[in-house]
Amino acid sequence: MSELRKDPIVDRWVIIAAERGQRPSDFKPAPQPTSPVGCPLCEGNEDKTPPEVFAIRDGTPPNTPGWRVRVVPNKFPALAIEGEVMRSGIGLFDHMNGVGAHEVIIEAPDHNADIADVPLEQIVDILTAFEQRTCDLRRDKRFRHIMIFRNYGAAAGASLTHPHSQLIALPIVPKIVRDKLQSARNHYRQKERCIFCDLIEQELALPDRLIYQNDQFIILSPYAARFPFSVTIYPLQHSYDFTLMSDEQCLLLADALHFILTKYKTVLGDPAYNMMVQTSPNILPRPGHADYWSSIKYDYHWHIEIMPRLTKVAGFEWGTGFYINPVSPEDAAEYLRNDNG
Ligand SMILES: [Zn+2]
Ligand SMILES: [Zn+2]
Repeated sequence: MSELRKDPIVDRWVIIAAERGQRPSDFKPAPQPTSPVGCPLCEGNEDKTPPEVFAIRDGTPPNTPGWRVRVVPNKFPALAIEGEVMRSGIGLFDHMNGVGAHEVIIEAPDHNADIADVPLEQIVDILTAFEQRTCDLRRDKRFRHIMIFRNYGAAAGASLTHPHSQLIALPIVPKIVRDKLQSARNHYRQKERCIFCDLIEQELALPDRLIYQNDQFIILSPYAARFPFSVTIYPLQHSYDFTLMSDEQCLLLADALHFILTKYKTVLGDPAYNMMVQTSPNILPRPGHADYWSSIKYDYHWHIEIMPRLTKVAGFEWGTGFYINPVSPEDAAEYLRNDNG
């Protein structure tokens, strides 16, 4: 079973998933399967995955063809669903058993139906699966944070080419999320305003970094973007939790995703990218934490980050946490707004 260990100096948890790693020779990059032959995520191969935990299908029985989106547990999970969260410590070292969930959201039955190319209704189905799985897993108090992410292309860490996203439910709120929440809470305490709403208002006033806007969402090139052409998608209406989206918002989020992912293909030549849904952690109180993020509904504003993998993270970045971005966020916005790629 995997375990969580905390670095006592930088206050950061790491998942040690020893059964995934195996021997040193297993770390050689595996060739990427590009054809649907033998793909475990394709329609018709439902018996090659663990049984589904969720699907959108038109009346066909579970684990058979006839679905539009299908969610299955990861065959090689980073964390295990069974067991209680047990914390222990030896001297400086904090430890937790590796309890969590690791699921694969199969975004289409067709091997080549990438999210950038499918009709908006299909993207709505994918977003619905994200919401449903998040709501279901949040009922479990052991899971403190649910991260949904999409790795597209080998350079972004994808090991299967079939269109899919993943979800990991964690027994802790990770440091990057905690830092964001803390910053949002501090701003709210001082000003009684959401820092993200303030940022959106400011960016709309001088739209140098505005890439796209519809009635419910905007896509911004972040002011201090770490990576060239990375973007953040924000709902225009304040909301701490993406699972509270209305049907109209869901359709317009699909529209915004379609816009930017198509731009990545046409302007940037279909790069690998990572996409992360940054929503509120589980606000179900757990014993000993009665006031857990008490102002979170007002101070936090969910968003989606997308980072094309055009530059390499190397020694300087690992050593300092500083990033060198060779494209100004204003230029990136200009390129992604217009069809001049
Ligand atoms: Zn496939
Ligand atoms: Zn807000």
